[in-house]
Amino acid sequence: MYNTKMPLSKDELLPFLCNISEQFHIGIAIINIEKNDFPFVYVNQAFTTLTGYLQNELIGKNFESLTGVKTCLEQNEELFFNFSKKSSFEKNIIHYQKDGTAFWNHVTFQPIIDRDGIATYAIIHCKDITDQMLNKMLSKLEHEVYIELEENGELKNILQLITEKVEKYYIRDIFCAIHVVNQERNLVAIASGSLPLSLIKAMNHLEIGGSTAGYNESVVYINDLSIKNNKSNKLIKKYKLSSCWSKPIFTNEKRLLGYFSIYIKGEMQLRQADIDFLKKLSPIVALSMKYVKQKQELKRLAFYDISTGMPNYNNFYTSLVMWVDEKVNGAILLLQPNEYSSIVDLYGRKFGDELIGQLVHRFLAIEDLHEEIIYGRFSTSSFIIGVKQADEESLKQFINQIIQITSVPFTIADREIFITLKIGVSHFNECLSLDESIRRADTALTKSRLQNSVVAYFEAGTDELIQRELNILNQLQFGIKNEEFTVHLQPKINLATDEIEGFEALARWHSPVLGHVSPAEFIPIAEKSGKINEVDNLILRKVLKFQNIRISKGLKIVPIAVNISPVHFYSETFVNDFLSLVQKYHIPPNYIKIEVTESVELFDFVKAKEILLQLKKLGYESSIDDFGVGFSSLSYLQQLPFSEIKIDRSFINDINNSDMHAVVQTIVQLAEKLRMHVVAEGIETSEQYSILQKIGCKSGQGFYFHKPMPLVEAENLLNTI
Ligand code: C2E
Ligand code: MG
Ligand code: MG
Repeated sequence: MYNTKMPLSKDELLPFLCNISEQFHIGIAIINIEKNDFPFVYVNQAFTTLTGYLQNELIGKNFESLTGVKTCLEQNEELFFNFSKKSSFEKNIIHYQKDGTAFWNHVTFQPIIDRDGIATYAIIHCKDITDQMLNKMLSKLEHEVYIELEENGELKNILQLITEKVEKYYIRDIFCAIHVVNQERNLVAIASGSLPLSLIKAMNHLEIGGSTAGYNESVVYINDLSIKNNKSNKLIKKYKLSSCWSKPIFTNEKRLLGYFSIYIKGEMQLRQADIDFLKKLSPIVALSMKYVKQKQELKRLAFYDISTGMPNYNNFYTSLVMWVDEKVNGAILLLQPNEYSSIVDLYGRKFGDELIGQLVHRFLAIEDLHEEIIYGRFSTSSFIIGVKQADEESLKQFINQIIQITSVPFTIADREIFITLKIGVSHFNECLSLDESIRRADTALTKSRLQNSVVAYFEAGTDELIQRELNILNQLQFGIKNEEFTVHLQPKINLATDEIEGFEALARWHSPVLGHVSPAEFIPIAEKSGKINEVDNLILRKVLKFQNIRISKGLKIVPIAVNISPVHFYSETFVNDFLSLVQKYHIPPNYIKIEVTESVELFDFVKAKEILLQLKKLGYESSIDDFGVGFSSLSYLQQLPFSEIKIDRSFINDINNSDMHAVVQTIVQLAEKLRMHVVAEGIETSEQYSILQKIGCKSGQGFYFHKPMPLVEAENLLNTI
């Protein structure tokens, strides 16, 4: 509009303006801007419809009489200040109808200048823009909620923000609350705007649903809150709550998520527009709930291992970074059940996860578990623990506690399974990168496997050890392919007669690259890399060939025992492969024996029994090797059809010691009762020999009699007896 002069005098102007304003369908008020209180001098018909007042109720009053609780004070002052400036402007302000209903009023102010250049009157267009403003408010709210969702993500906070914003922005003086349906299908108050949450919780909201069992889809209304809420009456009065409107919030699949409620103050009535607004608000709430859930799910995926639910590596690493940022130092422990891969091979991946899950469960149940620990799954077969500020003594104690958790068998695939742990330990501090600390724990874990110890610490030299392992692993393939392996035989001696009653076949490897590599080094690597069956079969074939030649030449022949790794022993094809090879060389079953290391890997009694029985039925005898160092006890061994026990070298080495003497004596006596043949390994001195004779040990093996020898030497030896 332009401030052009009207060709009318002041007195002619007013009737003209009144007349013309009646032609309009939007509310028009004419005010006197010469007077300090800017009174209405005329309002048109549409204005009375808009405000609900009669013409004569307004004339002489001013815009002040249209204000109410939600009218912003500053905006009202600004409106009057702008009137006084006598230049056109537009403004949005909350006004109230006579019956107390609020509406957003879009006010356009235009002073009218008469022919003398004086502005006595102004025309004010008023338009109800409530719908528009509510929509604007909804998008503003939506925007703010999205920002909060990104930054915060806690459902409780987001819903509280929604209730507070609605209370603030909404045209009506109301309170808001949100109830959500929790996992137990109960309705719980979670956000309450400016009301105390306890008040909302105290009100019996199950009533809102009409019945405790079902909810309906439409908006539900409670007329008089005080009737049903005797307990909260005081507070209901304090906040002047009269009634409550609730709108159920559903997912797209029509699942009830919760309720959005408006608590109405005093006698105010809700209009259709309010209900429509409630309807438009609920998708925002539903979306927030959905988004928060998705975010939590994403967080779960990012920080938790899906198959076991335990924290994942990322989770552990993040916590460790925080420790190091706080200048905390400590130890890293990598734990791996030694039998993991066998369990996965035998029963499937699911049971590998099950084992890790059970282990972690037991770990967390350790009494007075070091409070300052973090943990997570490190790989499919291992998990990692961080210990804060661990001095050597407490770390040792902690590790002992961990080892204890495997003392009782685990139930995997309905079977009782004993397992052992391998633990790699390193330290972390601010001087070392975290990746390096973790790498060191991993290296120490490899070391523990290589050394066949339960715990290994990363020390200077550990890296070289691992490098050596890698070199061996690389060369192993060539070694097998090029048949670089040979057999040495070590005689088994009858301790009563000194006669050779058999041989044990031991693998020897001379690699053109690495030189001589001891079985103690390459056997564990072959086991781990899945090459052990090739090594074992290669040795078996050489032994069978040796026997075959002697038989065909009609020479003296004694049983030869081959070492079969437990990893190989349990493989599906073991028995069939073994039998077909033996039959190929036509060796009678009594000339070939099997030695299986006494290891916890003989964990599956049922399966071990099955294999051993199958072999026994066909006439093949089996011995349990290195008895005593591993896990087994005679009480469980008696359930397995082994025909021979080989007492480990370490026992014989210490047999001078009276305790050890007693132990060996007991083993020999018990074995006899179980009708098992006993062989003492690693006899090096005549003293050991005579002690064993006295104890009643039937057979022995060791450098005292013979070292392992090449086949030609063994042949010569056999030919001389
Ligand atoms: P083992 O089956 O217990 O074999 C006995 C080991 O003790 C052999 O070591 C032998 O050389 C050594 N030994 C025998 N008498 C004495 C003694 O009086 N004093 C000392 N200090 N040592 C003695 P070796 O040949 O180094 O083999 C080590 C282990 O490697 C074997 O222990 C066996 O478990 C494994 N192994 C050897 N060959 C094979 C094979 O072909 N297949 C599999 N799976 N394992 C094998
Ligand atoms: Mg052996
Ligand atoms: Mg042995």
